[in-house]
Amino acid sequence: MVAAQLLKKNPKVDIGLFEPAKKHYYQPAWTLVGANTYDYEKTARSMVSVMPKGINWIKEYVSDLDPANNKVTTKDGNEFTYDYLVVAPGLRMAPELVKGLPEAMDKGVVCSNYTDPNHTWDVLKNFKGGTALFTQPTTPIKCGGAPQKIMYLAEDHFVKSGVRNKTNVIFATPGSVIFGVKPIAKTLMEVVDRKDINLRFHHKLVEVDAEKQIAWYEIGKDIKAGGCVVMSGDNEGKTIDESIQYNYKKNDAIKENGRYGIKFDMMHLAPPQAAPKFIASSPLANEGGWVSVSDKTLQHTKFDNVFGLGDAAQLPTAKTGAAIRKQVPVVVGNILHMISSKNLDNSKEYKGYSSCPLVTGYGKMVLA
Ligand SMILES: Cc1cc2nc3c(=O)[nH]c(=O)nc-3n(C[C@H](O)[C@H](O)[C@H](O)COP(=O)(O)OP(=O)(O)OC[C@H]3O[C@@H](n4cnc5c(N)ncnc54)[C@H](O)[C@@H]3O)c2cc1C
Repeated sequence: MVAAQLLKKNPKVDIGLFEPAKKHYYQPAWTLVGANTYDYEKTARSMVSVMPKGINWIKEYVSDLDPANNKVTTKDGNEFTYDYLVVAPGLRMAPELVKGLPEAMDKGVVCSNYTDPNHTWDVLKNFKGGTALFTQPTTPIKCGGAPQKIMYLAEDHFVKSGVRNKTNVIFATPGSVIFGVKPIAKTLMEVVDRKDINLRFHHKLVEVDAEKQIAWYEIGKDIKAGGCVVMSGDNEGKTIDESIQYNYKKNDAIKENGRYGIKFDMMHLAPPQAAPKFIASSPLANEGGWVSVSDKTLQHTKFDNVFGLGDAAQLPTAKTGAAIRKQVPVVVGNILHMISSKNLDNSKEYKGYSSCPLVTGYGKMVLA
């Protein structure tokens, strides 16, 4: 998007774009794939069809960044220099941050729309009732609403497939509210009430035992949801029975060594997520590994000719494609201004816009 808009505004800019992938995936539709209302194949397009014409597409994987010398090195060992660098490599799934998760992911009754939405549908389709657990990690995640969207769709599906009356739907989250924006949280709590969903707050997922089908949590009110905006704020006066639950169900959690286990018959989760390793180990990273940029200008905090955006950037907003749409014109304006007058374009700044279409059932959503 940045490359296309730069070229449109100034066709003389010489652009090299590193992208090793052959396919581009429209990830927001994976929520619908998981609920069988969208075809996975249709979420993919050939990369060549989305590449702007007139750029130099370098089909290589960047492995090293040396911003002090304006240099980028690829896995193939090729070196490139630049006048300006835009960094937007997304984030990586980091299942290794939860014990047992690398072995459990996308197998049997453990599924995730983040990694294999076709498997999610297999799990929902074959679910015969019991405990349906939906959960998310303490790290930042992309599309903070996605772990809930599939839960509302799944609940709707369970009604249709006739297993809802023998199913307990649980949402276990590290946060203290269902959504960080009050009017949206209010609507979602109505959805939760209507669907009779059991919410469990302050839950930090620490282990998945795939064999015994138990998700282990540490519980603590000081657990942070990794800066994920969706899980912040207060409880809007809602009473949480047993202090950490809403819509309390008889506490079936297994207590062992100070941890609480939830026995599940199916589990959907957002795996922990982290900055790509080549970013985290580079001089561009902050202490959390993300690209350190100014919130408003998206300019790197140390290297003036470097800009960062998208999921990889350290920004205090929810990581979404919608947010990127508002970030791109800021980066483009600033680079063009720097080329022409060596300073930033003060007329544009990123104001933190993000958006989330929270699907609440088949054919229903709240647009946050
Ligand atoms: C299930 C799900 C539901 C979602 N729902 C929504 C939604 O409803 N609305 C919304 O706005 N957003 C949603 N999102 C989030 C949205 O998809 C992301 O925020 C967005 O794709 C991030 O874009 P990005 O360009 O930063 O990263 P990506 O889209 O991940 O793209 C990164 C690109 O960088 C390339 N790359 C990575 N490493 C390197 C390297 N070392 N060298 C060269 N190239 C590299 C990759 O090949 C990739 O093409 C959802 C995501 C998921 C998973």
